[in-house]
Amino acid sequence: MRAHIITLPGDGIGPEIIAEAIRVLQVIAKKFNHQFEFEEHLIGGCAIDATGAPLSDETINACRQSDAVLLGAVGGPKWDRGDVRPEQGLLKLRKDLGLFANLRPVKPHPALTHASLLKPEKLAGVDVLVVRELTGGLYFGKPQGRFDENSHARAVDTLEYSDVEITRVVDLACRLAATRRARVTSVDKANVLATSKLWREIATQIARAHPQVQLDHLLVDTCAMRLVAAPASFDVIVTENMFGDILTDEAAVLVGSMGLLPSASLGDSKVGVYEPIHGSAPDIAGKSIANPVGTILSAAMLLRHSLALPREAQAIERAVDQTLSAGCRTADIARDGERALSTRAMAEEIIARI
Ligand code: NAD
Repeated sequence: MRAHIITLPGDGIGPEIIAEAIRVLQVIAKKFNHQFEFEEHLIGGCAIDATGAPLSDETINACRQSDAVLLGAVGGPKWDRGDVRPEQGLLKLRKDLGLFANLRPVKPHPALTHASLLKPEKLAGVDVLVVRELTGGLYFGKPQGRFDENSHARAVDTLEYSDVEITRVVDLACRLAATRRARVTSVDKANVLATSKLWREIATQIARAHPQVQLDHLLVDTCAMRLVAAPASFDVIVTENMFGDILTDEAAVLVGSMGLLPSASLGDSKVGVYEPIHGSAPDIAGKSIANPVGTILSAAMLLRHSLALPREAQAIERAVDQTLSAGCRTADIARDGERALSTRAMAEEIIARI
């Protein structure tokens, strides 16, 4: 297969980890006889420096015409005070490409339970996929802003969801669950919010079209508790934008390091955006110590979801699994006294096992 992949390394450790993910994809291409072309563009702070904007129309167009987008991370202290923010580039990318669902698989590795805040027995069997609605809800509500009145400050955010927005993300969650343990937990606040009542009603309807999938509903506060008290009880969690934002970060804590987790943002077209869940880590940028695993696993998700190459995706996931089982560690997951590998050396270990 031929595939055209746009890379957006971004800021901080972004370029270091994207370089390793590209090397892994090149090895996969060679081994499985594919041709992957890579084209690099700017996003975030480096794009602000070069063009004044965090994401140019040229970059968006290149992404639209590609088969998939692999992204590093954006942001850093240099751009914290400006009016134009690197993160605006990410929001624009998701909105313009219609990426309505963010997928975050969370599966702690048995050899790394020491790195998690949870007791090892709580982590046994944990394999959760959180599907977060990404382009609706509170973060995109109108009106939004600050409206000063009669010498009092007032700020407004509005939460709105349509049946169409709920349908497409719950349907995706059900289809993904059918390839796993066939259980979907839909998370809402239906005892209080009108949008959540609609969410629950639509989720129930959609699940009827997937009879092989079992659907449960859970209030977001209960879900937050159960995610740390009994994380192995979940298969697929589907929820709205802000609840998903919070729950996905909570779920990430189970694994022990931000550097390990991948994500995929998907929409109606095949162009998805694949990125590790962490930020640009300015504290370790340029030191060649960043963990490349989250980005390399994001590349595996790219192969599975945008290029329909599940065998190739599994080859990467298996190699990462074996590398961690063999005791290879970057600094973020090494115990006291354990030798920490550089970003490149960790990627080399994974490549050797592919
Ligand atoms: P961060 O995720 O960048 O870093 C949090 C901590 O995790 C740091 O100690 C960092 O060193 C560590 N870490 C992160 N990734 C790592 C990796 N691959 N290997 C080893 N250690 C890793 O979060 P932050 O410090 O709050 O944010 C830094 C910048 O990133 C900010 O400008 C923020 O706005 C931005 N950010 C961007 C994204 C994104 O691009 N999607 C997401 C979150 C934060």
